Amino acid sequence: MFTRTLAAAAVLALLPTPASANLDKAADRAAESDVLAWDFVEGISTEVGPRQAGTEAEARGRVWAVRWLRANGFANVADEQFMMDTWVPGDVMRATVVAPYAQPLEIVPLGNSAATPAGGLTAQVVHFASYAALEAAPEGSLTGKIAFIDHAMRATQDGSSYGFAGPARWTGPGLAASKGAVATVIRSIGTESERTPHTGGTSFADGVGPTPAAALSNPDADNLARMIARAGDRRVMLRLELNSRQIGRTQSGNVVGEILGRDRNLPPVLLACHLDSWWNGTGAFDDGAGCGIIAAAAKAVAASGRPLRTIRVLFAGAEETGLWGSKAYAAAHKGEPVFVGLESDFGADRVWRIDSNFSASDPELYRKLAASVARFGVAPSREVASGGADLNWVREQDGALIDLQQDGTRYFDLHHTNNDTLDKIDKAQLRQNVAVWTVVTGILANHPAPIQRAPTR
Ligand code: ZN
Ligand code: ZN
Repeated sequence: MFTRTLAAAAVLALLPTPASANLDKAADRAAESDVLAWDFVEGISTEVGPRQAGTEAEARGRVWAVRWLRANGFANVADEQFMMDTWVPGDVMRATVVAPYAQPLEIVPLGNSAATPAGGLTAQVVHFASYAALEAAPEGSLTGKIAFIDHAMRATQDGSSYGFAGPARWTGPGLAASKGAVATVIRSIGTESERTPHTGGTSFADGVGPTPAAALSNPDADNLARMIARAGDRRVMLRLELNSRQIGRTQSGNVVGEILGRDRNLPPVLLACHLDSWWNGTGAFDDGAGCGIIAAAAKAVAASGRPLRTIRVLFAGAEETGLWGSKAYAAAHKGEPVFVGLESDFGADRVWRIDSNFSASDPELYRKLAASVARFGVAPSREVASGGADLNWVREQDGALIDLQQDGTRYFDLHHTNNDTLDKIDKAQLRQNVAVWTVVTGILANHPAPIQRAPTR
């Protein structure tokens, strides 16, 4: 009898509870037939399109997203507005080699680039094969010259090459300016070989005035490097013409909405994405898809039964030009605890790995999450989740984080280019994202206990 009871208890422990069976069904339904994530990204990329941070286009995107969340039954939908310093790309973006091999090159300005004088500036180009080579250049050695940072990026599944290649864009122009450069062009931080330059933010250190800074498409960077090699002792002269500029303080906002939980006193599960995009694409991959994925998952969890905890979605504003939205959110919601934060901001290709920052301190919960997504082809890991850029403040507060790592193999083919358009989204992979997010969000939103976290300091 005793043995039979034990055996029965063991079987019961393995059987899914009614709630988890409903959640599994909801995830299966999402994998097969979710249309909500697509509805969001198709809608916003069609009816709004590019959503440059702090501009009228981003404001239209917020109005659109508020309406969409309300129409889909989210509670407490709001546009939490804030002011930001706004940069605009302008409409003049030309680069021309004037000697010795005169021809035009394809460029886009980098976020925070200064304008050139009207009519452009012309100067000798100095080639740096890598960021390290630029670092090694003597102080003052670039006075009056244009730096060309030719730092190539390769595709990787986990996107890790962004960390290697990114500094050429993030801080390269400022570093060149500190050594006297009048402008900088970089090889695009991108992995395809199309004539589509990749923009993205750059920043200039205090005391270094912003200079004109632009990205060349990969084939144009190849061409410029060949010209410099062939020119020998002759100077390669480039004319750069940009009217990108800062326009002062303008309004942006964070759009939020909630699926209300049964116990409003428990800290919510926070799902994040960003609503703004660069001006040149339609913000489908980056990051319309992410907002569609998290919203569709939150709705799918709600459809499987009211969760214990509230699920809050945060469509952050102005991520691209300096994380203005997440900083404003952290300031406006100071002191409000978050149960766990997750962000979707890596395109629309399939999730392949689940990382957390509590797999060692709360192994039971981590194992449950990892087991729940194995059937969607998602692998467990010991990597420590860092959260998305809009959740930096959660990490800084030692909050719990999960990263649902997406396949990034082709992400940097499209990232920040005019090719970031809806047709690049694979509907089956988008649905797999929603399925994985649904089961993970559902488990977290029904988890009564706090997540055990190892002290980090
Ligand atoms: Zn981006
Ligand atoms: Zn993004």
